Amino acid sequence: MQHPAVIAIDGPAGSGKSTLGALLARQLGYVYFDTGVMYRALTVVALQQQLDLHDAAALATLAQRTQIEVLHPTIADGRQYTVLANGQDITPELRQPVVDQHVSFVAIQPAVRSELVRQQRAIGTRGQVVMVGRDIGTVVMPDAPLKIYLSASLPERARRRHAQHTQQHPDALERVASELARRDQLDAHVLQPASDAILINTDHLSPEEEVERVLALWRQEYTAAACPTTGSPAQPHPPE
Ligand code: C5P
Repeated sequence: MQHPAVIAIDGPAGSGKSTLGALLARQLGYVYFDTGVMYRALTVVALQQQLDLHDAAALATLAQRTQIEVLHPTIADGRQYTVLANGQDITPELRQPVVDQHVSFVAIQPAVRSELVRQQRAIGTRGQVVMVGRDIGTVVMPDAPLKIYLSASLPERARRRHAQHTQQHPDALERVASELARRDQLDAHVLQPASDAILINTDHLSPEEEVERVLALWRQEYTAAACPTTGSPAQPHPPE
């Protein structure tokens, strides 16, 4: 019996993708892969090298030359993973406000996207992975058997982000909300649910409720894969 190989979870910043993805992966024994860290990693390196973030050619070269590795945590400091860029541990830099501010400019470059999508697909096709991002169901793994698109209102997403990152974002809630709205606009080019994605609004759901809902969908998928219907009516039992 085949388990669905990939669960794709997409949605805007703060919709709950990472929390849901990590919990689901743990429950299912799948790999959790947050594709946003690849765009963040490239942004960290571009900022370190003081590249012009609107220079498409420079960013394309950078994407091709930067080896990004997402590993199990190498340090027990509460991180979910360790991210190396050309061997350098850049995990602490990934969530800095300066990266939040610039990552969408890097991610909008077609050459950056095609390189990172190629690398993400290579990981996705190994299977048994919960992949989280913006374009997993539409571009990276369009054949994923289970696609979830999470949404949540802007005030709720801002409230979550603010609560999560009070140290990195000592700003007022309104500043966090306007930063999220700005990023939504910049990410609009990839923020489209796949036509066969299941939409879940998480405004009034706890992470545990979200996990239950997706696990129920996953079980349905699992059962459907185990007993595929032919589309024709059930045949009568043959005479004894
Ligand atoms: O999910 P996270 O906020 O870490 O993603 C950071 C940024 O990376 C997003 O705002 C978006 O610009 C980009 N991204 C993307 N496609 C993905 C994942 C992230 O364009 N699959």
